[in-house]
Amino acid sequence: MGLVVQKYGGSSVADAEGIKRVAKRIVEAKKNGHQVVVVVSAMGDTTDELIDLAEQVSPMPTGREFDMLLTAGERISMALLAMAIKNLGHEAQSFTGSQAGVITDSVHNKARIIDVTPGRIRTALDEGNIAIVAGFQGVSQDKKDITTLGRGGSDTTAVALAAALDAEVCEIYTDVDGVFTADPRVVKKARKIDWISFEDMLELAASGSKVLLHRCVEYARRYNIPIHVRSSFSGLQGTWVSSEPLVRKQQQGEQKVEQAIISGVAHDTSEAKVTVVGVPDKPGEAAAIFRAIADAQLNIDMVVQNVSAASTGLTDISFTLPKTDGHKAIGSLEKAKAAIGFDSLRYDDQIGKISLVGAGMKTNPGVTASFFEALSDAGVNIELISTSEIRISVVTRADDVPEAVRAVHSAFGLDSESDEAVVYGGTGR
Ligand code: ADP
Ligand code: ASP
Ligand code: MG
Repeated sequence: MGLVVQKYGGSSVADAEGIKRVAKRIVEAKKNGHQVVVVVSAMGDTTDELIDLAEQVSPMPTGREFDMLLTAGERISMALLAMAIKNLGHEAQSFTGSQAGVITDSVHNKARIIDVTPGRIRTALDEGNIAIVAGFQGVSQDKKDITTLGRGGSDTTAVALAAALDAEVCEIYTDVDGVFTADPRVVKKARKIDWISFEDMLELAASGSKVLLHRCVEYARRYNIPIHVRSSFSGLQGTWVSSEPLVRKQQQGEQKVEQAIISGVAHDTSEAKVTVVGVPDKPGEAAAIFRAIADAQLNIDMVVQNVSAASTGLTDISFTLPKTDGHKAIGSLEKAKAAIGFDSLRYDDQIGKISLVGAGMKTNPGVTASFFEALSDAGVNIELISTSEIRISVVTRADDVPEAVRAVHSAFGLDSESDEAVVYGGTGR
């Protein structure tokens, strides 16, 4: 039996009972003959509560001290989990990200892992321990400062450790039974997916399905680490995310599966729209706008430029980006206003994005038409559109999102006829 990495999200370890329940599961894996490395998130909504607290002492907390604060959440859960395992008669040791060898760049609050040197984890395993690692944190290579990997970053810690330790599988335990055709909190009739390709999962994650983080899937694809997303509350098989269309079941071994035409519908209400009004319609203007945004280290998502009014020679350019970066974007554009020469800026954070994802889109005509018909039947107005080979996304009013997601899900025949999707825990925050 090989090495497994198991990651437990915040809702799985929300309270003492949750920690004891998870400890039992971990011990079972150890008893089955595996070497077990566990990555754990902060308990329940601890990270959000720490952010709220920081905002009470400083309006827009960022940087080194903010990271120092947020990493405290995972420290609490890792130590409690190790204690709970010891209480069951098994040896466990907990490690911070830094102790586990998670080395990052020095971009505070959204650091990237650049190396993993898990020497201490290997030693702990060789000595018969279960190793518990704090997710979402690392240490910067140059300054040796504590960093965090961005919200939901424990998923990335787990896959990075799985790659560095050459694990058989990375199991992501959460509060639903796997990856569904839509968020089960929004679509009760969402269906559990048995297998999904890295490509489709990457698009779903990038489009807002927070069940797995985009960076984590990227990492898994690069090192070809199969991910098994499943519930820590039930014993059910979950969703396999891998390059080969296979599901692996303990008794029956590997089984081939077929790739679906449409994998699912994702939604995201965490973005805002910035409109740069009255931009001179001449070469170099878009470049100047997006250079200002890039120099502020901000990532944008969708972009649209309106047709310019012939009478004025002016146009509008809109783009979307995470709400958390909204203030910075407005600030950096205001600074560059005179140089760029636009009239004004508009900021709208009441938007939502709905995306349909599936590799079958490439070869099945009519997907785009059916998507827009479903939105039109639901009376949803579209503000922006963007597409890739395997995804169509639209921006709408935030209030329209749940209805739009359900309409598109039904229109593509994704509704399940049998069970309703179960959400075992969490607050959806
Ligand atoms: P954890 O605390 O375990 O990291 P998250 O809250 O980050 O859990 O992710 C799990 C949640 O992701 C689910 O409770 C669900 O509401 C949401 N989610 C969004 N899209 C999907 C999807 N397509 N399939 C499953 N869950 C999804
Ligand atoms: N605790 C962190 C967060 O809430 C990291 C994680 O849960 O993955 O974002
Ligand atoms: Mg998560």
